[in-house]
Amino acid sequence: MFASAISLLETARSATVLCHVQPDADTIGSGLAIGTVLARRGVEVQVAFASPSELPESMNELPGRDMLTAPEDVRSRVDLVVTVDAGSRGRLGALADRIDMADACLVIDHHRSNTRFGTLNVVDDGAESTTAVITRLLDAWNVAVDTDLAHCLFAGLVTDTGSFRWVRPGSHLLAERLLATGIDGAAIARKLLDNHPFGWLPMLGSVLGSAALVQDAVGGLGLVYAVILRENSEGMRSEEIESVIDIVRTTSEAEVAAVFKQQSGDEWTVSLRSKTAVDVSTVAATLGGGGHRNAAGFTAHGAKTDVIDLLVDALG
Ligand code: 5GP
Ligand code: MN
Repeated sequence: MFASAISLLETARSATVLCHVQPDADTIGSGLAIGTVLARRGVEVQVAFASPSELPESMNELPGRDMLTAPEDVRSRVDLVVTVDAGSRGRLGALADRIDMADACLVIDHHRSNTRFGTLNVVDDGAESTTAVITRLLDAWNVAVDTDLAHCLFAGLVTDTGSFRWVRPGSHLLAERLLATGIDGAAIARKLLDNHPFGWLPMLGSVLGSAALVQDAVGGLGLVYAVILRENSEGMRSEEIESVIDIVRTTSEAEVAAVFKQQSGDEWTVSLRSKTAVDVSTVAATLGGGGHRNAAGFTAHGAKTDVIDLLVDALG
């Protein structure tokens, strides 16, 4: 699975590594790890994501962040574009066109809904994180994983596994290998996951205070949801906003959890989580989004109640 990818990576003299919009630690950790390996080989490399304009603060200690390039400065022509943790072209936002200008596009991902939009696609939908796919790729390539690479790779692993709750045989061995390089796993996890300003607590108070349980939704399995209006999220970082779903989804009465995040007047991004019975990536795909079986998302336009109804209908 990795041989053709390695030969693409070995022959490129210039490369752009693209992370997905609204980046998380898996896409940035993956991008910086691949970028670092290429830069060490003498490849001219940029790492970028289309939006927002700033890297989330929780990721500002990841090694290699000097390679991050503002979208408008991303070269138009390179030998190779590598995309990391993006399930579809759309997830690259305004930088998607860089694919068409490159000689080749290598897609590295773990999303079930991946549309295989590269000239070569390394997609393992059983992998814990895209950084886990990359660790296995580096092993096949005989690239030694040092502390800088391990830091980036661990960042994606600890966040995408929900702090090692969603794991499979081999996941802890992977973590062990990365930790054995000498990285401080506790410090990395705290910085990425357990580090919110005090204002997060009153924000949670108002958002969770208006959460709703729709017991007859999802064919009787139940939907729980919360809504984050612009007024709730004002002054909040993406870290605070994206944490809400992790609390909402713990509701025992509901199979599916959703958080509706108002982006502007009538634009909403929606996070979906399921426990076991429902594949939310399929539901999200019918609404123009995608994701994993138990974690997915989409963007919708309309009044709040219409967007909620849209989801309730799609869930059946
Ligand atoms: P989150 O709720 O954390 O934003 O997203 C959960 C999962 O769904 C992530 O793996 C993310 O990549 C995917 N996802 C979220 N929104 C979208 C979207 O609009 N389109 C696609 N294709 N995937 C999405
Ligand atoms: Mn991921």
